[in-house]
Amino acid sequence: MGNSAPASDSGSRSEDRSSPNTGTSVSAKATSLSATMTHQFPALTTEQKKELQEIAQRIVAPGKGILAADESTGSMAKRLNPIGVENTEENRRRYRQLLFTADERIDSCIGGVIFFHETLYQKTDDGIPFAKLIKDRGIVVGIKVDKGVVPLAGTNGETTTQGLDGLSERCAQYKKDGADFAKWRSVLKISDTTPSELAILENANVLARYASICQQNGIVPIVEPEILPDGDHDLKRCQYVTEKVLAAVYKALSDHHVYLEGTLLKPNMVTPGHSCPTKYSNQEIAMATVTALRRTVPPAVTGVTFLSGGQSEEEASVNLNAINTCRLVKPWALTFSYGRALQASALSAWKGELSNEKAATEEFIKRAEANGLAALGKYASSASGSAASQSLYVANHAY
Ligand code: 13P
Repeated sequence: MGNSAPASDSGSRSEDRSSPNTGTSVSAKATSLSATMTHQFPALTTEQKKELQEIAQRIVAPGKGILAADESTGSMAKRLNPIGVENTEENRRRYRQLLFTADERIDSCIGGVIFFHETLYQKTDDGIPFAKLIKDRGIVVGIKVDKGVVPLAGTNGETTTQGLDGLSERCAQYKKDGADFAKWRSVLKISDTTPSELAILENANVLARYASICQQNGIVPIVEPEILPDGDHDLKRCQYVTEKVLAAVYKALSDHHVYLEGTLLKPNMVTPGHSCPTKYSNQEIAMATVTALRRTVPPAVTGVTFLSGGQSEEEASVNLNAINTCRLVKPWALTFSYGRALQASALSAWKGELSNEKAATEEFIKRAEANGLAALGKYASSASGSAASQSLYVANHAY
C-alpha cells in the first residue's frame, strides 16, 4: 500500500563496515537506529495547516479571548438554580441570547465563543441562528465536543474523558454548521496520591487523539488539561504537577503529529489549592504560571487561553493581567477562556427577568472589557469588595 516511508527515511543500506575503534558494525548501528527512527507521513496539507493557524490567531488576536458558554445542560442547572430560574431549553436560549447580542464593545475583546451542542442550533427571538450571529460579528464559533468524564478504575477517584467514538463525523458536521474550533476538557486532581501516572498518560493521550481528529476536519482543538483547585496544596505543588501534566500533553501531541500552530492550550493558572492556608500575591501566581508554561509549552503553540477555575471575576482578571506583565519572555498569546469569571455578575443581574436583560448584558460587557485589557497587561483593578470579587469556587467542579 502507499505506506512506505520516503527513501531518505527508510534506513541505511550501506555496506557492512567495522568501526576501527570499537569493532562495532556500522550497518548494525544504522539498523538499530532506523528501528527507533520516526518516519513522517504528513498529517495535514500546507493549506490545511494555514487554515488552522489563521483560525487560532484570530481567536487570540491582541486583546481578545474566549467566552466559554458551553456549559452542558446539567451545568446550566447549577448556574440557573441559584438565581431562581428553571433550567429549560427556552431559558437557556434567552440567557445565551443576552450574552451573544451584547453590543459592539465586545467585538474587540471576544475572539471566540464556545457553544454547547444545543446552543449551536438555537436562534435569536428574530430567528437568526446564534452561530450565524456570532460569525457575522467576526467572532469565531467553537463547540464543546467531549462527552464528560468517567472513572478510571483502580485510581483514587481519577477520571478520563470520553467522546472519541464518532468524533470525526461530529467534527465534520460541526464544521459545516459553522464551528471552526472545539474544546475537550480533561480533569486531573491534586492530592497525596494523585495525579497518578495513569491519569496523566491516559488524559494526555485522549487529548492528543482528539486534537488530531479535530485538525483532520479543519477544526482548531483547544487542549484543556484542567488541574482542579481542590485541596490544601501550596503554589509549588500546583506548579510541579502542572509542569508534569503539560509535559505529558506535549509529548502526546507530538506523538500524534498534531500541528501545534493550529492549537490552543487551555490550562489552569498555577494557584495554591483552595484550602491552602498560605496566601500568595497575584505576582507570585503569575510567575509560577508563566514559569510552568515556559518549561513545557513549545513556542509554536499559538495561544494559551486560561480557564478561570472558580476564581472570582476580579481575581481572574487581575491574575491574567499579572501574567501578561510578568517580566519573563512569553512566546505565546496569553489570554482568557472564562466561563464563570465572565458570567457570574451577568447571571445574578439577570435572574430570569426580561426587565433585567439590559443590566445583565452590561455586566457581561464589563467583564469582557476587563479581561480584554488584562490580556494586554493594561487592566487596572478597581472592584475590590464588589460582587465581582466573590469566589466562584465549586468543589470537584464539572462542566
Ligand atoms: P471556568 O472559567 O468557569 O473554569 O470554565 C471554563 C471552561 O470552559 C472549563 O472547561
